[in-house]
Amino acid sequence: MGLTGQRPPERPALTPRAWLDSVFGKKANQQPYADEFEAVKANAQFKALPAALQANLLEELGRHAPWTQGRQMVALLGRYGGLAGLPQAKAQQVINLIGGTTRTSTHARDELAKRLADSALWKAAPAVQADVLSKFLEDPTSYPPLSAGAPAKLPGPQQVSMEGPVEVASQPFRPGAEPALRYDVRVGMHRVPVFVPKTPVRAGLHQHTLMQVAQALAQLPSGLLSRIPFITLEAKPNPGDDYWKLNFANFKGSYLTADASSVAIHPTEEPQSIDALASALVHEAGHVVSYSEWGLSAADERWKPWRDAVTKDVVLPSAYAANRVGEDFSETLRAYYAVRGTPAQAELDVLFAGRVAVLKQLALA
Ligand SMILES: [Zn+2]
Repeated sequence: MGLTGQRPPERPALTPRAWLDSVFGKKANQQPYADEFEAVKANAQFKALPAALQANLLEELGRHAPWTQGRQMVALLGRYGGLAGLPQAKAQQVINLIGGTTRTSTHARDELAKRLADSALWKAAPAVQADVLSKFLEDPTSYPPLSAGAPAKLPGPQQVSMEGPVEVASQPFRPGAEPALRYDVRVGMHRVPVFVPKTPVRAGLHQHTLMQVAQALAQLPSGLLSRIPFITLEAKPNPGDDYWKLNFANFKGSYLTADASSVAIHPTEEPQSIDALASALVHEAGHVVSYSEWGLSAADERWKPWRDAVTKDVVLPSAYAANRVGEDFSETLRAYYAVRGTPAQAELDVLFAGRVAVLKQLALA
């Protein structure tokens, strides 16, 4: 059956999948896309929605070309009376949350299906129906952070070349200044100086080669490359690690660290991949940008637009982002650049609308 029918959904079968089959019929899975799109548009509840919400729903439907649970849930929301009972911004948030292909949306869809799979609810007053959606939005466990934390492969690589070395008598590294060699990595129009100490890397630890650093830099977006003043390829662990080791039993030592003017790559106990390095460089370059633009403390007034965006956008880019607002900025960059230029970018543009607006002002999106 199409969505023009007003038959309320039956009592839930045990899984969201089976429940949706009971609502739409199993044949819906083979239904031509265009027909179903028209059926949604012809639905009375859908037609009663404000134009912006209608457009929002159709856009989210468009993200699910085959007839899938994703499309069924978006379509179902279109005929759920509670949607019209929410303030428009909140209704849009619900649609955006369930209407994508990301980890966040997949989980959010299952969660909403569980909450809507109650035939009594479909006969309840609109205010009661809207309340179910409000509670869904208010519960952050309904929509987990976007990334589980694994480094995503960045687009690229770009053309890369290297110049140097040049002798430097005294170069600041994290533990202190010492003689070094300077290499200039050129990626496209950009030049990133990389300083290598003459001291060998501490025995038993692994450090990237200069070539690996160049290959990782070649994956970085141009707008971010221009914001890295220089990189140090450290021979010793981060001096700040002692504090972290005291406070966190499982802390294995810093990999990359940043301040407002540089990124340091520290030696690690286990060797790291180039993709991991590229992803970490995006995160740390994010710190360089945010520290230099808005100050080292996120309590600084200049951080307010980002703090407001985090509140508005609801979803977190990763679990780690929950630690501090500064981490949220860096993790957002990591999530954003992992999908930029792919179809998933449109989803992030919607889920992180507030954050992306700030990134645009910084010429990073
Ligand atoms: Zn960080």
